[in-house]
Parts: sequence; structure tokens; C-alpha cells
Amino acid sequence: MTDTLNPLESAQLQIKKACEKLNLNPAVYEILKEPQRVIEISIPVKMDDGSLKVFKGYRSAHNHALGPSKGGVRFHQNVNLEEVKALSTWMSLKAGLLALPYGGGKGGIAVDPKKLSDREIESLSRGYIRGLYKYLGERIDIPAPDVNTNGQIMSYFVDEFIKLNGENEDLGTFTGKPLILGGSLGRNEATGYGVVITTKYAAKKLGIDLKNAEIGLQGFGNVGSFTLKYLQEEGAKVRYLSIRDESEECGRSALYSEEGFDYESLQKYRDEHKSLVGYPKAKKISDQEFWTNKFDILIPAALENIITEKIAKNLNVKLIAEGANGPTTPEADEILKEKNVEIIPDILANSGGVLVSYYEWVQNQYGNYWTKEEVQEKQEKDMTKAIEGIFEIKDQYKTDIREAAYMFAIKRIAEAMKLRGWY
Ligand code: NAD
Repeated sequence: MTDTLNPLESAQLQIKKACEKLNLNPAVYEILKEPQRVIEISIPVKMDDGSLKVFKGYRSAHNHALGPSKGGVRFHQNVNLEEVKALSTWMSLKAGLLALPYGGGKGGIAVDPKKLSDREIESLSRGYIRGLYKYLGERIDIPAPDVNTNGQIMSYFVDEFIKLNGENEDLGTFTGKPLILGGSLGRNEATGYGVVITTKYAAKKLGIDLKNAEIGLQGFGNVGSFTLKYLQEEGAKVRYLSIRDESEECGRSALYSEEGFDYESLQKYRDEHKSLVGYPKAKKISDQEFWTNKFDILIPAALENIITEKIAKNLNVKLIAEGANGPTTPEADEILKEKNVEIIPDILANSGGVLVSYYEWVQNQYGNYWTKEEVQEKQEKDMTKAIEGIFEIKDQYKTDIREAAYMFAIKRIAEAMKLRGWY
């Protein structure tokens, strides 16, 4: 049964189905089912109390047919080898569908960063690079931020890498850097902006009028907040917002705004109160009311495994845009398919982040930096091209957007592998 699949097995299953549908040589699946390189390291860190702790770190490079590996590094207590391998596999697909010259990469350290001091985190970050630097580089493998890592951690990575390599022009080995260290304008907004580009396109294709659509959004973090901002700029209204509410038993509740939420106002309240609980310009509703409401468009932008079988059964929605990674469980996905709900899958909807990371890498190589308008204009063009290609496959093979996205990405990777003589 699918509910016993670990993330790697579920990635493999999705790839297998897409390869079969494309009628590809079975060798393609055999190559893609496992990453090409996986490294596990032990990182010793001297803790503030004088003791020594050893942390496990990982880095997986899934497939280098299209170019060097690219993908984030997460610091989380649940990081493990299988998860890192699966996430690197999905990164290959994201790069493939956007026509980026990359294969998928992903890394992580099994650690709860909230339990570490700033000095301990710096030491751990530098230790990660010491263990891996021979396998990193702007032409080899290019890390970026992911869960619980950020521009500060990328800065430690850059510094340690440059020290070990002795080359000062290695800025392009990491993306998601602060602007002053070679970051790109528009990177912060990129994922939410991309969610809106793809939602706008799919809504139009499905005959949903974005300006009058009933839209529900879950999460007001990086992805959720910029999704709301750019939807608002499109003249769309988000009237339902599900948030994390620590005062609730399951930590969730939702807000309802008759006239639609305003990005600036939410942002201001959240900055002042560190939470949206008590936001005065909205009515509090229950989590249950949120998930059973009738929506034209629903955008989960918080965490993985939110739309479970139970939630899917009660959902009344036409289009889901997966802002978060893996928000829909495989069982829920089956139910939604039966209910004819269209889903813009995570590998497409939230691929704006890796796309602008690619722009950062390009800008680093040229030492020439673009304006935010240039970045966003390019992002819109590149993501629209990808979604157009995916809809063509969807129509040609009479399949859903998720499967079409897998097929579109795998086709490109398979072609590169064939030309290289791998099968
Ligand atoms: P974030 O930590 O900035 O925001 C997550 C938000 O979700 C927080 O505001 C949190 O309070 C809220 N939240 C958590 N649990 C919730 C719940 N049960 N109900 C309602 N709200 C809840 O993280 P982010 O960077 O916005 O990432 C969100 C998702 O998008 C993750 O799955 C991440 O992997 C994915 N993603 C992010 C990026 C990026 O560039 N940031 C790129 C691709 C994918």
C-alpha cells in the first residue's frame, strides 16, 4: 500500500509511472531510481558547555546528465538518508521541467537547530563544508538554503569553502546568499511569485476567473506571504487564510476577511506580534470550517502531508496549487483525482525558488547583477514556458498536471542521458 512508502519509494513510483507512460527504455528508470552520488559524513562540534557532539550530515547528487547538482541543505532533527535522496530526486525533476542546466541535489544535517547556540550553528555549518568541500563547486554541486537554513548559513558556507579552496571567486558555489555576498534581487519573493504565475496560467486554462475566485491559502511564511502579495497585485482576493495557532489544540486555526486580506497589513501585524493570531481585520474561524469551505483555488503553502485522505474526502475545490513541498499525501492525491480536482504539483508550483537561484548563479559567473524587475520578467517568461509545455503533454496524453510535469521533466533528462550514451 502507498501509505507504507517512504519518500524515496514514492518518488520512484511517480518516476516509474511517467517513464512507462512515455514508453521510455526501461534503462531510464533504472538510472533515475537512485541518486548517482550520496555522501554521509560525521561532523564533530565542540559545544558551548565543553562537551563534544557528533552530528550526521548528508549530501545527495541525483543525476548529472543536464549539469551540476543543485539543491538546498536543511537542518532538521528528522533529516535522514532516504529523505535526502528523495528530495534530490525531486530537484532533478524541477530542474528538468524548467530547462535548467542542473541535476538535482539535496543535503541536510540531522539536528534540531533550536537547541544550538549561534556559535554552535556556525561551527556545525563550517563542519558540514569541511566534510564535503571536495564534492562541491559551481560546476559540481551547488547548495542553497532549505528548511531552517538561510542567508547567514550560506555566508558561513561560502567563507569556509573559500578558505579551504583558496579561491575568492567561488561565490557561485552557493545560492540564496545575502545580496552583499552575491545574492540575487527577487530571490526572496521568487517562490510565491512563481506560485502565482502558475496559478494564473492554470486558472485561465480551466476557466476560473482569478479576480472573482474564492481562494484559500494556508501559511503566511515566505511562500504564503508572497503568494498573497502577488495574488493581490493580480486583483484576486484571498478571503480565507489558515495559520498556525499555538493556542489551539492542534495548532491550527483560520482567518476570514470579507473584503480579502491585504498583504501589507498582515505583514505589519505579524512583524509586531510575531504571529497572526488576534489579527483584528478578520474573523477567526475553525480549521474545520477552512477545510470544508467551497473554494475555486486552494494553496497549501505551509508544510508537507497537510492534505490527508480525511481532508481530501471533504474538500470542495477546483484547483490546488502546491506552494509547499509534498502537501498532498499519495492517498489524498488518488481521492482528488477521482473528484477531478486539478493540482499544480509542487515540482512546478514552487519551482520559482530554484529558478531564481539559477539566475543568482548566472549573475555570479558574469559579475553582473540584474534589477528585480529584470529577474521577475525573466521568471515569468521561463515559468510560463514550462507550464505551457506541461499543458501540451497533459492534453496529448490525457493526463493530470502532476503526471504531465513528471513526464515533461523526465523526457528532457532522458534525452540528455541518451545523447551522452548512458543507455
Ligand atoms: P516558512 O517557515 O517561512 O513558513 C511556513 C508557514 O507555515 C509559517 O508561517 C507557519 O506558521 C505556517 N504553518 C505551519 N504549520 C501550519 C499549519 N498546520 N497550518 C497553517 N499554517 C502553518 O516556510 P516557507 O519557506 O514559506 O516554506 C513553506 C513550504 O514551501 C515548505 O514546504 C517548503 O519546503 C516549501 N518551499 C519553500 C521554498 C522557499 O523558497 N522558501 C521553495 C520551495 C518550496
